Amino acid sequence: MAAFRARLGAVNFVLERGELRDIAEKVVGNLRLSEDDALRLFATRDLPALGALADLANRRRNGLRASYIVNRYINYSNYCILSCQFCAFSRKKRDADGFELDADQIVAKAREALDLGITELHIVGGLHPSLPFSYYTGFLRALRALDPRLQLKCFTAIEVLHLAWLAKKSVPDTLAELRDAGLASLTGGGAEIFRKEVRSRIARGKESGAEYLDVHRQWHRIGGKSTCTMLFGHVESHADRVEHLCQLRALQDETRGFTGFVPLAYQPDNNTIPVEHPPSGQDILRTVAVSRLYLDNFDHITAYWVGIGLRMAQVALSHGADDIHGTIGEEHIFHMAGARTPQLQAERQLVRAIREAGRVPVQRDMFYQPIRVWDDTDPESVALEAGGDASGQRVAETEAAATLPSR
Ligand code: SF4
Repeated sequence: MAAFRARLGAVNFVLERGELRDIAEKVVGNLRLSEDDALRLFATRDLPALGALADLANRRRNGLRASYIVNRYINYSNYCILSCQFCAFSRKKRDADGFELDADQIVAKAREALDLGITELHIVGGLHPSLPFSYYTGFLRALRALDPRLQLKCFTAIEVLHLAWLAKKSVPDTLAELRDAGLASLTGGGAEIFRKEVRSRIARGKESGAEYLDVHRQWHRIGGKSTCTMLFGHVESHADRVEHLCQLRALQDETRGFTGFVPLAYQPDNNTIPVEHPPSGQDILRTVAVSRLYLDNFDHITAYWVGIGLRMAQVALSHGADDIHGTIGEEHIFHMAGARTPQLQAERQLVRAIREAGRVPVQRDMFYQPIRVWDDTDPESVALEAGGDASGQRVAETEAAATLPSR
């Protein structure tokens, strides 16, 4: 409590001279921000004040803890019937660099990663033109049989709609079948920006924001959890972002099914959107901070290092983020769109980044539940940071040798 009061003092100091005093009073008083407030926060030049407010809100919810996950990404295929303008990942069957994995190949990747300590698999792909519904339930079952403790976070809401169409089932029935086969969480991808005019400029033909939200709603209604995202820094306005966040907050009020929010920084390469540069550091921090303050019913805001770099993710931890995501192992979607970040992170790098940011590293599971708190005095923690033999380091380093470059 003393630390909180001290933090509040710092916020007061920053805001005494600021234009955000009325918003600060709402944040300190735990009152909900309006859409106008969020727009003002996006427009303010006083990033230090905005960051201090977001940090206050985050510390009130999460203290000094900041999390990461030891996980592995698998893309089962990059074939897709759509051609979203912002996407550098999808391929047509005629393309030489298209790929699809069969269930045995997926299981082999999972087995290798499991041996190295992952707790979560994150599996997405394009909207494949011909694979049957049984392919998806088949690999889920095979993965569950491999290790029932492995948490399977799979499919965007857009993929779920595609699978429902394939299966000729309703969305709730499709979700229930996927859950019964082993699906534990939906991913947050596919949200982009909900506003129709923006969506048609960056992802023409893709299902609407309302359809995205309804898949998550149906999933939450049967007891499921999921994350959600927003792709920012392309052709959208601040008002578009606020409208997007507004819809996510409303659904969270309704279902409480979102475990976390992941703002995704747009990557500008190998696509047809007329944007030359990815979002600036200022814009990234601002977006993280506004997300934390406006999404007052979300526990966790992730600074996704793949899109913004680990150093920026570190800084974001003092601008409202409390999570930097995972070890990942093999990432295609952002890297094919120009991300200059590594394909993976060693666990020790994530722990070190969090420590350097003045936070307490926590290994979490898919639902953001703590697996391990890295106390400074823990001998294994010390060994990990020094590059010793803790399991997470082995995960990333062995995977680096095993999977890079994959394409
Ligand atoms: S963003 Fe997804 S749905 Fe759109 S083209 Fe790429 S893989 Fe297909």
